Amino acid sequence: MPYLDDPLIIFTDLDGSLLDHHDYSWQPAQPWLDKLSAANIPLVLTTSKTPAEVAALQSALHLTHQPFIAENGAMIHLPPGWRTGDEVPFHINGAGYSEIRQTLVELRQRYDFEFRGFGDVTPNQVAVWTGLSEPEAELAMQREASEPLVWFGNDLDFAYLKKCLAREGLALTRGGRFWHVMAAGAGKGQAVQWLSERYQQKRGQPVISIGIGDGPNDLSMLEAVNYAVVIKGHHDHEMPLHRDDISHVFRTSEFGPQGWSQGLSHFIPVF
Ligand SMILES: [Mg+2]
Repeated sequence: MPYLDDPLIIFTDLDGSLLDHHDYSWQPAQPWLDKLSAANIPLVLTTSKTPAEVAALQSALHLTHQPFIAENGAMIHLPPGWRTGDEVPFHINGAGYSEIRQTLVELRQRYDFEFRGFGDVTPNQVAVWTGLSEPEAELAMQREASEPLVWFGNDLDFAYLKKCLAREGLALTRGGRFWHVMAAGAGKGQAVQWLSERYQQKRGQPVISIGIGDGPNDLSMLEAVNYAVVIKGHHDHEMPLHRDDISHVFRTSEFGPQGWSQGLSHFIPVF
């Protein structure tokens, strides 16, 4: 059982996990956020959002001194204190955005694939697709390492697009509303592993990680951590975890930030 004075790191999904699915509030998690902060335990936001979208939230949560994981693991942002020498402020798993866009545009020209990505449309169109306001849509369009797209073609062509992308080292993953094109093998789990190793190097001792998430795109993260909190989701997807240590997995009965707190209280004893 991990204690607050252990070398803990917590990786958390945002929507439906730390943030309420409906009103985006994290209020019910505040007592636990305060405990983690008092114990100097890093909380790493691990999300499908873009760095531009995460920035405001990270600052509201007083976490700007911590790294964060964006675009479903395709990008890891490092705070100033973490950069050595001429290191850039982020680490990208595989291909960057312009490279992904170029590949998509070339494939579409060659095979007449019927899709539109964020890079093809206006902020107004992204706002219509997502339900975001236009300024919010603009933040969602500032991408570093993954491209969401809407597919309008048939299944056969889609299977062929998938094959073509695989040849370029890219993969399609299903999100809530979109398909996401990103480097093959990039995911929340891979990013969590990369960052856990960095923490380990920095501290010179093994770290104990807890992952918290509610959706299928969290599964790789929940398999990469020592302790997994599976938050009850507002969806019908099963959340199968391939791990043997069942006692290190807790499935909450509560949603969102209530479930978030329930999960931490389950694993970490507080005196
Ligand atoms: Mg979620």
